[in-house]
Amino acid sequence: MFGLMQERPLLVASIIQHAARHHGRTEIVSRLTDGTLHRTSYAALERRARRLAVALRTLGIASGDRVATLAWNSFRHMELYYGISGGGAVCHTVNPRLSADDVAYILNDAADRLLFADTSFVPLIEAAAPMLAGHLQAVVMLCAAAEMPQVALPPGIALLCYETLIDAAGEDYAWPVFDERTAANLCYTSGTTGRPKGVLYSHRSILLHTMAENGGAVFGLRPADRAMPVVPMFHVNGWGSAYAAPAAGAALVMPGRHLDGASVAKLMNDERVTVSAGVPTVWLGLLSHLRASGERLHTMQRLIIGGSACPPALIEAFDREYGVTVEHAWGMTESSPLGTFNTPRIVPGEDAAAALQRKAKQGHAIFGLDMRIVDDAGQEQPWDGVASGNLQIRGHWVCSAYYGNPPGSATDAEGWFTTGDVATISPDGNMEITDRSKDVIKSGGEWISSILLENIAVAQPEVAEAAVIAAAHPKWDERPVLLVVPRQGQTIDPARLLGAYRGQVPNYWIPDAVVVLDELPHTATGKVSKLALRKRFRDHLTSSASAA
Ligand code: AMP
Repeated sequence: MFGLMQERPLLVASIIQHAARHHGRTEIVSRLTDGTLHRTSYAALERRARRLAVALRTLGIASGDRVATLAWNSFRHMELYYGISGGGAVCHTVNPRLSADDVAYILNDAADRLLFADTSFVPLIEAAAPMLAGHLQAVVMLCAAAEMPQVALPPGIALLCYETLIDAAGEDYAWPVFDERTAANLCYTSGTTGRPKGVLYSHRSILLHTMAENGGAVFGLRPADRAMPVVPMFHVNGWGSAYAAPAAGAALVMPGRHLDGASVAKLMNDERVTVSAGVPTVWLGLLSHLRASGERLHTMQRLIIGGSACPPALIEAFDREYGVTVEHAWGMTESSPLGTFNTPRIVPGEDAAAALQRKAKQGHAIFGLDMRIVDDAGQEQPWDGVASGNLQIRGHWVCSAYYGNPPGSATDAEGWFTTGDVATISPDGNMEITDRSKDVIKSGGEWISSILLENIAVAQPEVAEAAVIAAAHPKWDERPVLLVVPRQGQTIDPARLLGAYRGQVPNYWIPDAVVVLDELPHTATGKVSKLALRKRFRDHLTSSASAA
């Protein structure tokens, strides 16, 4: 016997319809490319998203067509999220920090028909455009007619203005209802090895992810919140904030491209932000700005940190010095992205050091997604906080296949997706990433966690940022090398720094060398690029230069 409850397809447009109807006056504040602030509401945004859907239809975009965006976080990017997917097409967010060659590869692989772009990306578009002839029919600049830049495009690719399109389109449009399994969004993985691969989210997976994200044990947004997604909307749907905030009736504050510590702190205070999310690099930048300027955060309550391991020193500093709770999250493009979340909890009898250690782990599986660790033979490993293994996940918003491949081709027969991360899980289900499998250091047959070594380095007062990589070693195969950037005005004494490891890790974990750098290379999603560092320092312990 089936239940007798209503069944309505889970569609992305229903989120903005809900926000417009029930939280219509709630604000969306955007810092635009020129630095000025723009204000709108969910009701107004929904109307413009409908106009966009009409304009797309006029341009010949049909259900399933791919439409690309190259844009910072702003109200216009949000209109694209809803106008494109809501009308049945696929919103393909492209990372503008990639090279022109990669951008062209991605646009061609997806066969995007239109590209909506912020004016700050004209040089990138001009560099990629000659490689795009064929599929792409137009580039639409996200600005008003008076702000239209000159863009050199090859014949066959038209140049259009976003506000002109919106002005010309009517609002008389009803959001269509279709199968919830229809593709809604497309996002390519960062592609640290090989070419980027597309992850194709469905309306259903996005809606279920949104509901899970708004659960009390996860982001748990509320109408009283003013949420600032610092994570870009081109990085795994901005971790879902542009869906979760309107679904919860929380206000949104979009920082645009202004992500340095001073700009972030000013926007947080001016716009009374209560919760924000982003990668550790941004928060390290905010912390050093706050410490150097003496500025305080007046309304911030929670910082959600993920994308790379969050150093315990960062958790402690925001909590102790600024009264802001840090919540550590883990996920990936293939998991929409939320997989685990470290929700605040009370553990009877736990001291401060143990609490910090617990909070620094990547957290517990979110309902709707399961995880396990397995050895190289696929044998499940115990949850004892010690045994480490390859982390696998499965659930409602985990990818089944990459774009262009048959369903199920990215998982094993039981639906487990291998993440490429190595982790431990404590008896109570708190997962800790010890490494990306390709970043693992194997010294004399023993595994050394680069993340743990990095966390100890950034806890030192003279260190701003740190990375540990495996360098080739004639006797031990691999040994850890520590690459560090000093804090402004500080110098690093390698011997003192290495001394800080004593007693905290087994002696054989202590790095063989310290290299002081002015800066570390970062990937297009703001993570430290270990690939670039490995290429540069792989032979550091064997080359004659370092021996000298
Ligand atoms: P991406 O698909 O670009 O979002 O990258 C996903 C990868 O980032 C994961 O597989 C992890 O290796 C890494 N990652 C994400 N969140 C964390 C975290 N909290 N701690 C450690 N690594 C993380």
